[in-house]
Amino acid sequence: MRPRPFFHLAVALALTGCLLVPRFQDSEETEDRRLARLSAEIQEDLEQFRGMRFGSPPKVERIVAHKRCDELDAAAKTGWVASNILDPSATADRMWRAAGLLKVTDSATVQRKRLDCFASRSIYQVNSKRILVLMDSQHQDERRVLTHEMVHAMQDQRTDLRALLRSSRESDALIGVLAAIEGEAEFVSARLADPQKAKESCGGSMSGAMWQLDKALQKIPHLAESPATVSIPTYVPYVFGERLACRMFERYGMAGLDSLLIRPPAGSWQLWHLDDYFENRPPIDWDTAWSQLPKLPQGWLPLGQARAGEARLAGLPLSWDRKLARKILQGRGLAWRGDRLWVAGLDSGRTALLWRLAFTDPAKALSFGKTWWTLRETRMGRKLPAWKKSAKSMFWRDSLRVAYTVRVEGSEVGIAEGFDSLTTVRMLARTMARARR
Ligand SMILES: [Zn+2]
Repeated sequence: MRPRPFFHLAVALALTGCLLVPRFQDSEETEDRRLARLSAEIQEDLEQFRGMRFGSPPKVERIVAHKRCDELDAAAKTGWVASNILDPSATADRMWRAAGLLKVTDSATVQRKRLDCFASRSIYQVNSKRILVLMDSQHQDERRVLTHEMVHAMQDQRTDLRALLRSSRESDALIGVLAAIEGEAEFVSARLADPQKAKESCGGSMSGAMWQLDKALQKIPHLAESPATVSIPTYVPYVFGERLACRMFERYGMAGLDSLLIRPPAGSWQLWHLDDYFENRPPIDWDTAWSQLPKLPQGWLPLGQARAGEARLAGLPLSWDRKLARKILQGRGLAWRGDRLWVAGLDSGRTALLWRLAFTDPAKALSFGKTWWTLRETRMGRKLPAWKKSAKSMFWRDSLRVAYTVRVEGSEVGIAEGFDSLTTVRMLARTMARARR
């Protein structure tokens, strides 16, 4: 049986912000009353701004700070958000690890849960259709946090969020869907709760934006320790989704916001390259069926296949070599046009991969090929043969005859790793010859 496409992102529809412990606690009754008043105000503001009404008023409940992680944990166990689809066999983690998109010691699922617990001040629960909020009158963002969740409640009444989240088969496509959901919530809540901010523009050039995001994440205490490969896909929907919503609003007014959930971005690259989103330009892709791949050597079984996507690729050098990352990310970006990763495994836990990537032009492809080789070296912690000046491919095998190959052909790059040397070369050659779909 072909492995299921993986939904490894555990998703919380929560506004993530700094963890602030309340400095004093009002009496419970007062806090409940304050919450009811604030909710009513926000509901009215939101209905007026969006020009639509709630079918029924959203349920809002207060949670206390020290119970937050328990609440989240309990909610996760009962399927509190639609796409909180666990990865019990950890297949997705194993795949990302094989590609170096996750370090051996990292588990995306565990880290995501931890991030959700510490970063969330409020949650919209898709299953029970209620908002849980940590009231804290000392927190300046209180109104914004609650508005954000109210937007989710309104979204859910107009579009079935559960179904929408389940509609993406690719994990990179899920980032696009989340960007539409979180982007609208971030943008609308900023406009309503923080008018000063709303006057600002949608943000300038995207050049180096991932690097800036990384720097910003480093300053948030509970994120500083989390690897870029986990924190970046987590935060991209909020940060770049808001920018997308802002641009849509600038261009098309309220109809632009309405259209986000109807046609969410197809993947993370459309958040960087908005023209691709506006023009609905698909990425370059190849036939995804394992039966279309060269026959795997004996003992190897397909683990899965996926599009890594531009956001995850941008996080790759950040995880392994921040100096190199600065060079790539502060330049003109990755110029990604598409990729597909196939991972196979042995019972022993050993993995091998075939990865095909497309870029906007041959120079970008060559630059990625060379970068990959450098990262390979960093990941292995040993010297590899240097990339020769006019070379278009590199090949190396270790003392156990495990082979590593990178090949650049025009604007495409092929990577094959982990099989024995002859098989690797042969499989890569055949994979590169496959037609685009
Ligand atoms: Zn949210």
